[in-house]
Amino acid sequence: MTNQPNAPQGDLRQVPHYLSGSTVAAHGGRASDVFNPSFGVVQARLGLAEPDLLDLAVAQAKAAQPTWAALNPQRRARVMFEFKRLIEAEIQSLAELLSAEHGKVVADSKGDIQRGLDVIEFVCGIPHLLKGEHSEAVGPDIDVFSLRQPLGVVAGITPFNFPAMIPLWMLAPAIACGNAFILKPSERTPSVSVRLAELATQAGLPNGILQVVHGDKVIVDAILDHADIKAVSFVGSSDIAQYVYQRGAAAGKRMQCMGGAKNHGIVMPDADLDQAVADIIGAAYGSAGERCMALPVVVPVGQQTAERLREALLTAIAKLRVGVSHDPDADYGPVVGAAHKARIEDYIRMGVEEGAELVLDGRGFSLQGHEDGYFLAPTLFDHVTPRMRSYQEEIFGPVLQIVRANTLEEAIALPSEHQYGNGAAIFTRSGTAAREFTAKVQAGMVGINVPIPVPVSYHSFGGWKRSAFGDLNQYGTDSIRFFTKTKTVTQRWSTHDSVIDQSFVIPTMR
Ligand code: NAD
Repeated sequence: MTNQPNAPQGDLRQVPHYLSGSTVAAHGGRASDVFNPSFGVVQARLGLAEPDLLDLAVAQAKAAQPTWAALNPQRRARVMFEFKRLIEAEIQSLAELLSAEHGKVVADSKGDIQRGLDVIEFVCGIPHLLKGEHSEAVGPDIDVFSLRQPLGVVAGITPFNFPAMIPLWMLAPAIACGNAFILKPSERTPSVSVRLAELATQAGLPNGILQVVHGDKVIVDAILDHADIKAVSFVGSSDIAQYVYQRGAAAGKRMQCMGGAKNHGIVMPDADLDQAVADIIGAAYGSAGERCMALPVVVPVGQQTAERLREALLTAIAKLRVGVSHDPDADYGPVVGAAHKARIEDYIRMGVEEGAELVLDGRGFSLQGHEDGYFLAPTLFDHVTPRMRSYQEEIFGPVLQIVRANTLEEAIALPSEHQYGNGAAIFTRSGTAAREFTAKVQAGMVGINVPIPVPVSYHSFGGWKRSAFGDLNQYGTDSIRFFTKTKTVTQRWSTHDSVIDQSFVIPTMR
């Protein structure tokens, strides 16, 4: 598959499903359009599967999984090493394909893929990660050990905004642990998943271990209700995450469902303002604000800090360049679709109506030659307050809101009392302030002078409150726990005959 940087023309490409090591064309039925956001035109058609296709995918996965699970973990790791090498070898074309559907600039798409590669790299250590625990001589001739065994067939449902990273967050640990994986990508950015599956096959992954089934709510519900799917990992918006979590859990599945976010960056009076502003600009507007770890709210502490910050932000924003996703000089590209653009514009209108000061209005921006693209210029609000709905909800666009606070305590209360709790950052030179912030803030991922504190692949990713439903986080050692079940074995191998007398009693620690 290649990406054409000119406006797509001619026959529409059909995005296939991927089953048992081959692409499978969608046959009639329901379909949706896949757009190129830089041009605002349809570039491909995506067949939406019905439950019978899922049944087939699960049956193939179920048949293939025991052999894969029985392979020694070092050999599964070798497939992962090769998978990583193949992705690296075509990172440029994968990034272009990703950008053409998402709209983020190619450099961002490479970052998206690289973050996924980091997780593959982590699970290359699967022989070590799957080692259990052992206690010797817990009783007469008795040892206890625990094993980690795969669940069987598991599934992942992913959002539009990280079309490579988030599928890889899920599928790499799931597969390395010995499971078979059904991936249901976002309808808006479906193609990268198919290419990743092709590369996995090329890397030596047996057929049926990675299945890609495209679809909408129909297929999500079918996944949640399917008796042979034992666990579901979901990333998307919070209402859907909660729904998926509840329905899957009610069907007895292990669930982890990551939701929306509204991350805050607190700027203390002693912060290195140049550094903080550069970081905030990248985190607020990068990828058009369509990152769950974006920084759409800044909280300057003290009025003087607020004035200095506002001025510095305005200077920095003036230098931002909005462009098409394949423009190497663009800082960010279009948002993902027309409906999403309209939703962001609604929030801007709402902010004005609620009484926030609209300092910069990104609506009405048009890029010459790309008038139909879904572009928005950087938008900046000041004097936003916690009572405003435009503050309480996730906007997910290139919109930055300044919420002024008088004290550190007041500033910490803002992200802490917000419905979302994904990430929160503080910019300061004071270890004391940073320590207090770290201890008190109610968010799952904290940055100290780091605007987007996404944990590296050998830690785990997850928010609090309505940003995540379920107990275990994405990737890192949590993912190994999520995609395996623990079996604990208490064994007695007698060294003398006397224990025969005790064979009907529960072993104790004598
Ligand atoms: P979304 O919730 O619209 O879609 C996510 C997935 O759910 C897609 O695969 C979609 O097909 C499916 N889906 C959509 N509507 C459904 C319904 N009614 N029933 C069942 N399934 C449904 O999310 P999106 O717009 O693709 O992604 C953006 C959202 O994802 C933002 O809220 C963002 O914050 C969040 N996100 C969170 C994280 C995180 O780790 N917390 C990471 C990335 C994105």
